[in-house]
Amino acid sequence: MPVIEKVAWDYAGAEDIAYRFPNLSLKYGSQVIVKENQWAVFFRDGKAYDVFGPGRHTITSNNIPLLTAALKALRIIGDIFDCEVVFVSNSQFRANFGGTAYSAPSGDIKYQAELGFFGYMLYKVEDPKLFVVEFFGNRGASSSRDVENYIRGFINERIINEFGNHDIFTVVKNVDATTDKVTLKISDEAARVGLKVIDCVFEGVKIPEEARRFASGMGAQAMMMQYMKETATELKGSEGGGAAAAGLGAGMGLTMPYMMAQQMQQAQAGQPQQLIICQSCGAKNPVGTKFCGNCGASLAPQAKVVCPKCKAENPAGTKFCGNCGTPLAQPAASEITCPKCNAKNPAGTKFCGNCGEKLS
Ligand SMILES: [Zn+2]
Ligand SMILES: [Zn+2]
Ligand SMILES: [Zn+2]
Repeated sequence: MPVIEKVAWDYAGAEDIAYRFPNLSLKYGSQVIVKENQWAVFFRDGKAYDVFGPGRHTITSNNIPLLTAALKALRIIGDIFDCEVVFVSNSQFRANFGGTAYSAPSGDIKYQAELGFFGYMLYKVEDPKLFVVEFFGNRGASSSRDVENYIRGFINERIINEFGNHDIFTVVKNVDATTDKVTLKISDEAARVGLKVIDCVFEGVKIPEEARRFASGMGAQAMMMQYMKETATELKGSEGGGAAAAGLGAGMGLTMPYMMAQQMQQAQAGQPQQLIICQSCGAKNPVGTKFCGNCGASLAPQAKVVCPKCKAENPAGTKFCGNCGTPLAQPAASEITCPKCNAKNPAGTKFCGNCGEKLS
């Protein structure tokens, strides 16, 4: 490997946050040229040894004491040594972010809204040593593009984590305060990897309509019903399978909504049958009442005549079906009582179905 006399990051683009020279062979007397908006970090085996600020630096055992100590420890002694130099820009950069996050579970049904978010962060490197260790050491970045990707991932990850701490009520009521908290958290975390957040702007937080309804409280009940219906349907659809059993294992919590949904459906279906409307005055009486509480009329179920043609039920005594107009046979006239055994036989029957007596 040729010994480098002079090392400089000459072709830094506006988008480049860092540039890594791997496997440099330097010697005492080599020059490291650091431009106005740059740092040069001596780096080896995941550790950052020294940072050079802007200027022309001639390498001596004096200006890289930590590095030479490390090299001596590694038994690389002499005036030529191998290392990496990572040049770092101290310009301001912009990273766009965006994705989806879930709010913290809220309410009895642990409702989580899927929130959309997008925006951008303005940042710069504040601690080049920490930055190089974090991104080029711990995360194995080798280019500016890698660093950008890590930073974008870093922002998204923090936002997703932070939204997970706020329930949908908080998010809907005060989006700005929530995003401010998220920004604050990102700034804290960014400082730990050597970055300074200059600004973090949420250009949009998309809250689904159903989440707004849920958070408004007015729709909470309706949401819960809908959720339970869906859950109940899913459970019914997956009954019996081994996969279904595995799915159920994912949450005992599903059982409750299912049971509640069933009860609610039953309650809904049962509602009209829980009252008896008095045929005489129209008053509503509770099930089981024998006489109308309003007019005293008997509430006993009236005899019904089933229409032979359309099967509609008509009150006893009706002459024509209320549904299709077919003449209805009257029970009194349509039965012949056997004179011998008193069994009732349909009109027109010639012999008693019970005793065989001839019916006139
Ligand atoms: Zn009545
Ligand atoms: Zn009919
Ligand atoms: Zn008979």
